[in-house]
Amino acid sequence: MVATGLAWRGEVCAQVFEEAAQDLGRGLAAFTNGRRGGGRRVGFPRFRRRSRTAPSFRIRQKSDRGWPGIRVGEGHARSVRLPRIGVLRVREDTRRLRRLLRTGRGRVLSATVSLRAGRWVVGLTVEAADLHPAVCHRPRSEGDIGGWVGVDRGLHAFVVAVTADGDQVVREPDPPKPLFRAGGRLRRLQRTVSRKQRGSQHRRAAVARLGRAHARVRHVRQQYLHQVANTLVKTHDRLVLEDLHIRGLLRNRRLAAAISDAAWAQLDRIVCYKQQWRGGQVEHAWRWFPSTRTCSRCATVGPKLPLSQRMFVCDGCGYRADRDHNAAINLAVWGEQHHTQIRDPEVRGPVINAFRGAGSDPHPGVGETDPGDGGTPPPHPQRCGVRDVREGRCQTSQQTRL
Ligand SMILES: [Zn+2]
Repeated sequence: MVATGLAWRGEVCAQVFEEAAQDLGRGLAAFTNGRRGGGRRVGFPRFRRRSRTAPSFRIRQKSDRGWPGIRVGEGHARSVRLPRIGVLRVREDTRRLRRLLRTGRGRVLSATVSLRAGRWVVGLTVEAADLHPAVCHRPRSEGDIGGWVGVDRGLHAFVVAVTADGDQVVREPDPPKPLFRAGGRLRRLQRTVSRKQRGSQHRRAAVARLGRAHARVRHVRQQYLHQVANTLVKTHDRLVLEDLHIRGLLRNRRLAAAISDAAWAQLDRIVCYKQQWRGGQVEHAWRWFPSTRTCSRCATVGPKLPLSQRMFVCDGCGYRADRDHNAAINLAVWGEQHHTQIRDPEVRGPVINAFRGAGSDPHPGVGETDPGDGGTPPPHPQRCGVRDVREGRCQTSQQTRL
């Protein structure tokens, strides 16, 4: 028999093809949806060649003779068993995951195996129960508008978090800047890659070395972002972040590398979902809210501050403060004002956190608004941006969490 088409088809678990077909379906749906104006415009799905793209596949959790096909900690504590492949030894501790599965508080939905920077990685998608109430934030009463903390992200200090009263609660003065620190090494490795002959064994090895260096940058950054996000969400239940126009900021050639290295958008994303787990709130001040230029004492909006100017000095009342500190206070105040606005039943009706069951809790959820409720932001900067009620950025993750 002459094998035609995918000659290696028999070597691979059938589920891999099913999942790939699902992904293709999703890609095509997104493409047609975008063309009809139903969502973001995306390109037509591209073909993946096995030799060109980073190897990766997904296996769904299926019952295997009454047992789940994907099992954790079978035979050895640090192992994952996949159907067809068998038991794989893994490097990381699986203890908490095993406990979650054993007590029935979690369920593995799928496993994704991928090759990243020379290492095989198994990622498990797990559906888990809500966090224990003891580690969640206590629900606030109906009329409570306090407790907001403004979080200012910057390049000088990575994060400055301040309450509306001006108490600084978190300050992360020096981010690790992994890309900047690895700069020389990355440039050197990149140069060695470009000197090697295309398609050669040496070039492949050089590319792998470069990939590992980039992976290290990514890991250092991730670790730091998770630490910062954890300190924020563990200590405070109400956070206000700026809705930064990061793509616009990246147009600044001098700052683009530093801004990318800081990974502000990633911090936003991580804070959002972690806060949601704990039943807290994250609000986003609208994009043109002049948090840096506004005086936190008398609310006078001053002229634009050059980046080099670290102190904020008010023309109106002479108030002096650290630039980031002042901006963070303004964000916290914005949270209070915004909150009274959205709680007004005349305007929007009650806000219910659907994630914990409709009406189960008077505590409003993270950016829980109806898409129709979002107003359009005023075209020019305005002193307090309470007019715009943003559609919650975390809504998609809220829906996927069952
Ligand atoms: Zn002032």
